[in-house]
Amino acid sequence: MVNRDRAVVLGGGMAGLVAAKVLAESFREVLLVDRDTLTGVTDPRRGVPQGAHAHGLLAKGQEVLEGMFPGLTQELADAGIPTGDLGTNLRWYFNGKRLRWASTGLKVVSATRPELEGAVRNRVRALPNVTFLENRSIQDLVVTQDRAQITGVTLDGGEELAADLVVDATGRGSRTPAWLEELGYARPEEEKVKIGLSYTTCHYRLRQNVLGEDMAILCVATPENPRGAFFSRLGDRYLLSLTGMLGDQAPTDPEGHLAFVKSLPVPDIYEAVHDAELLDERVAFRFPASIRRHYEHLDRFPRGLLVVGDALCSFNPVYGQGMTVAALEGLTLRAHLVGGGLPDAKAFFADAAQVIDAPWAMSSGGDLSWPGVEGYRPPEVLMANAYMDRLRVAAQQDGAITGAFMRAAGLIDPVTDLMRPSMAVRVYRNSRPKAVV
Ligand SMILES: Cc1cc2nc3c(=O)[nH]c(=O)nc-3n(C[C@H](O)[C@H](O)[C@H](O)COP(=O)(O)OP(=O)(O)OC[C@H]3O[C@@H](n4cnc5c(N)ncnc54)[C@H](O)[C@@H]3O)c2cc1C
Repeated sequence: MVNRDRAVVLGGGMAGLVAAKVLAESFREVLLVDRDTLTGVTDPRRGVPQGAHAHGLLAKGQEVLEGMFPGLTQELADAGIPTGDLGTNLRWYFNGKRLRWASTGLKVVSATRPELEGAVRNRVRALPNVTFLENRSIQDLVVTQDRAQITGVTLDGGEELAADLVVDATGRGSRTPAWLEELGYARPEEEKVKIGLSYTTCHYRLRQNVLGEDMAILCVATPENPRGAFFSRLGDRYLLSLTGMLGDQAPTDPEGHLAFVKSLPVPDIYEAVHDAELLDERVAFRFPASIRRHYEHLDRFPRGLLVVGDALCSFNPVYGQGMTVAALEGLTLRAHLVGGGLPDAKAFFADAAQVIDAPWAMSSGGDLSWPGVEGYRPPEVLMANAYMDRLRVAAQQDGAITGAFMRAAGLIDPVTDLMRPSMAVRVYRNSRPKAVV
């Protein structure tokens, strides 16, 4: 009989919290270790610097988190966080053109990353068999003499935590590849898409509510209009995250920043903020590359260790996939805990890879539509990108296409649904160049 006495989760971000929740269903005790203070934190924290920037939860992530933590969505709404429909309450723009309004029935909650993480964290902390070890830095893995089994971790100060299962959720800076190498295993092969992405974020108070019942203006960057913006209503404040690609970055000085806003293909954002009250410093963040680590390709892997979240795959953030994939990996972990044993790492990574495949294809494939992004473009990627360009043009006319696009981008429906003959006909009809008379 395999012992399920204690699981240790490394990292208390979204992936770590979801893993802790799932592990608590079958382990006697779950310890979650993080280098930050977690309890009571409502602001962006040091260990999650991306938390200061726009964070949207995809429709699938909303569904999965609600399933794991029933009532979470209502709880956020009750706390005053704006909620609405993904297709009717968000204004989506591509190349300065707005997608047609479409009721999707998919709920969107305009929570900031700290708000969402805080709500999930409170639920996980309330579980009787979960303990948070805060302000503790993880140093190393503890391993059996034959190096075949991980038996725990060491923390700063040398303290050792014994564990039957260790789950690495320390984010994209995960040390598991280096630890594996030190233990005589191969490092996982890394797939990288260099995008040179930047975010610059600040908050405003506006003279008037420019969005009405709507929750956000999403000005999505494209190769033709490479500057993007996420402008969201958060109660009585507004968040503006500006994005630049391939080395472009919104300046943090007042004039440079405003000039960047003015250069966006959607003038409404400049109109809203040019005379608004700035509430904080402009914060910049660089994201050089999306990274996928292919643990599923390794022949040998120690028992008693798994990797989840950004440590496994860190997606281009503008697609908003990371937290949703972390939640889906939680479901994969749960499936691998059915039956009483410890999860088999190879089988877990194979299933997690299937979870990652579609969103990775969507985001890394989409990034290859930028001529400046290096990488091989197989014919299917070229065709998919050309089709998606037409689909987004067609969605300016046809709300049914907007709805289908939201469902696919939200990971609710497979992206192949967008290529069905009936949809392709609608796309073709609505994206034909108009005849000149
Ligand atoms: C700018 C930006 C915007 C994004 N926007 C979105 C979005 O709109 N939607 C979306 O779904 N995703 C978005 N993401 C991705 C999202 O933030 C992550 O995918 C998601 O948070 C899952 O991350 P994680 O929990 O694996 O890692 P993280 O959130 O990075 O958490 C890792 C945790 O591990 C801890 N840690 C690390 N090392 C140690 C150590 N040695 N000892 C102790 N603790 C340690 C850290 O303190 C931290 O708490 C965005 C990312 C960026 C960069």
